[in-house]
Amino acid sequence: MSRKSKNWKNRKIIHIDMDSFFASIEIRDNPKLKDKPVAVGGKATERGVLTTCNYLAREYGLHSAMSSKKATQLCKDVIILPVDIAKYRRVSAEIFKIFKCYSKKIEPVSIDEAFIDVSDSKYCGCDPEEMARQIRLCIKKDFGLTASAGISSNKLIAKICSDWRKPDNQFCVYDYDISNFIRDVSLKSIPGIGRVNFEKCKNLNMLTCKNMYEQSRSDLVNLFGSYGNILFDLIRGVDNREVKTDRVRKSVSVEDTFLKDLKDINSCLEKISLLYTKLINRCESSNINTGNIKEIFIKIKFNDFEVISRQKKSKCLHIREFENLFNMNVMTITKPIRLLGLGFKICQDEEMSQIDIFNR
Ligand SMILES: [Mg+2]
Repeated sequence: MSRKSKNWKNRKIIHIDMDSFFASIEIRDNPKLKDKPVAVGGKATERGVLTTCNYLAREYGLHSAMSSKKATQLCKDVIILPVDIAKYRRVSAEIFKIFKCYSKKIEPVSIDEAFIDVSDSKYCGCDPEEMARQIRLCIKKDFGLTASAGISSNKLIAKICSDWRKPDNQFCVYDYDISNFIRDVSLKSIPGIGRVNFEKCKNLNMLTCKNMYEQSRSDLVNLFGSYGNILFDLIRGVDNREVKTDRVRKSVSVEDTFLKDLKDINSCLEKISLLYTKLINRCESSNINTGNIKEIFIKIKFNDFEVISRQKKSKCLHIREFENLFNMNVMTITKPIRLLGLGFKICQDEEMSQIDIFNR
């Protein structure tokens, strides 16, 4: 066991996050793009949005979820490439194989992000920092891509750390330093706060975790609902969530924020049809079984950021079902709509077997 291991009394968790993943793959595959501002996303002429952009493009103020139109206004030389999700998934699957060499406890967060619990791993003299270094080196050598890593004894801190020295770097916070480290972290970095809650915090003069320490648990519940209870622990760096290896998909959804708010039923129905195609494509590209649907839902966000969702029992994924659900719940458009989403929930295995029993 190395000298460093004594810094670890609790769990050892590594959070790996690829650096501008989609854009980096495209640049790797076409070296002429190197040293140019590159983004991946939809076309500016078709009201597309960026999914990722490289660091050079970020210097112009570009970021993910920005409309491609705005991106070309901010940086007229930006090269916007179409999304090739099948290619990115292939690369992602190969990279996840590297993680498996260090631990079986891997929780995929997204296509380019994962938690690895290496508490029991004997590699690198049981030193998680060295493991993270090796993983990143391996990704660079084998795939020509860079990753950032965060290392700590819980998921929250590991995730914040992977962002700390981005790109192509890593950062570690030991157990004994967590409470000290989290104090000055921006509330923006705390998962679940989101944009709307962050605005709320700002109005109350709370920008960093320590600014919130005077609030009691019940104060936070009053401010943020049941999430306030979780938040009370998170701002103190307390996070007991396990690294979950067997994440079962419970629902699938797609959504779109529109450049121009929708003001009439017909334009909403047009968008629902586009979103429906997107949903079907998502199911096909991710091999999602649509044979065990239990419910479909729609999500509507208005221009004042009020969000509503409506659902109905359904076993099939048909465009008419979504249109009906929308029509039943939205008779007239009282305020402009800035986002629409469609999705469905899947029967879990236990529920499936119950249905089987009933059908026998
Ligand atoms: Mg990433």
